[in-house]
Amino acid sequence: MNRRNFLKASALGLAFAASPISLSAAGEATRQTGRSGRLNLSFEPYELKLRHAFNLARSQRTTTPDVQVRIEYDGIVGYGEASMPPYLGESVDSVCTFLNSLDLAQFSDPFRLEEILQYVDSVAENNRAAKASVDIALHDLLGKIMGQPWYKIWGLSPEKAPNTSFTISYDADPAEMQAKIDETKPFKVVKVKMGVGHDKETVEALRKVSDVAICVDANQGWTNKEEALAMCEWLAERNCMFVEQPMPKEMIEETAWLRARSPLPLIADEFLQRLPDVIRAAEAYDGINIKLMKSTGMHEAYQMATLARGLGMRLMLGCMTETSCAVTAAAQLSPMVDWADLDGNLLIANDRFDGIKIIDGKVTIPDRPGIGVELL
Ligand code: MG
Repeated sequence: MNRRNFLKASALGLAFAASPISLSAAGEATRQTGRSGRLNLSFEPYELKLRHAFNLARSQRTTTPDVQVRIEYDGIVGYGEASMPPYLGESVDSVCTFLNSLDLAQFSDPFRLEEILQYVDSVAENNRAAKASVDIALHDLLGKIMGQPWYKIWGLSPEKAPNTSFTISYDADPAEMQAKIDETKPFKVVKVKMGVGHDKETVEALRKVSDVAICVDANQGWTNKEEALAMCEWLAERNCMFVEQPMPKEMIEETAWLRARSPLPLIADEFLQRLPDVIRAAEAYDGINIKLMKSTGMHEAYQMATLARGLGMRLMLGCMTETSCAVTAAAQLSPMVDWADLDGNLLIANDRFDGIKIIDGKVTIPDRPGIGVELL
């Protein structure tokens, strides 16, 4: 890329960061860095509108910042996405800056996946969602060139994909709580968020109307190991399958103590991000929750799943609020995992892709090449 194009691309990225534009009018922030036979990266911000506001301690969140990515090669387009829930520390600005700093046009062979992704990873530390967006688009592109979906390229059997959970949160209004529970009807597993002061109330409200299997995400909310053990025992009697991130990620010894006694498997989420974290997680957890926006995409997610399996750990596959692009990319891995929590696309009102389907509660991967999505 020459300097003039770099400056032009930087200006576009900054313009988008300052003022997101609609997809139809975008014309895309195409960086004119490629020609036929070169990887051509383009991207644009896309604000995700949440179907229901997320209730936080002091505020509500109704949107999630997101950047949609395309990599074009010889007329074939691969799609990717970076989703940035605020707690992960990335933003539209940081993702656009990162993507603007890449020079993918130096690569003429998209099958050199290792080489390309090592380059992307080396450009700056962190920026995991931004890196994931490139990784996903590259996988989509390669799958389309080969004419195969990634679950087939990886040799996985799609019928082994698990049920996925649907998350509900506590609501003090019984009618609202009932409405939330009604919404979970097609799902075979309901995920309950805990550690916010209504732990038993949420499960008791659910159990009044349903015997559906549950899993619990404490989001690091339990800070006393004896109380955490008491909760695990209480939940085990109420058809709970596992507990995700029961204690703060720093409390490794306490979590190991809990694991030695808990009747339920403990799954690491906030504790781990990337491949090297899997080995540390094995010290205190029974399993790991892999998310593409943490793992920098599908390539490392597959490596994490393989390593965790080799260590005898359980596997869970999660997501952020995302369009069907990133959720369907994650679903390609789902036949490898014990549990899936792939409801992120169902939580937004402006999905722009058709992809993963939940049929009778089960993750169903589209039989399309690449990551399996089509623009709506
Ligand atoms: Mg979690």
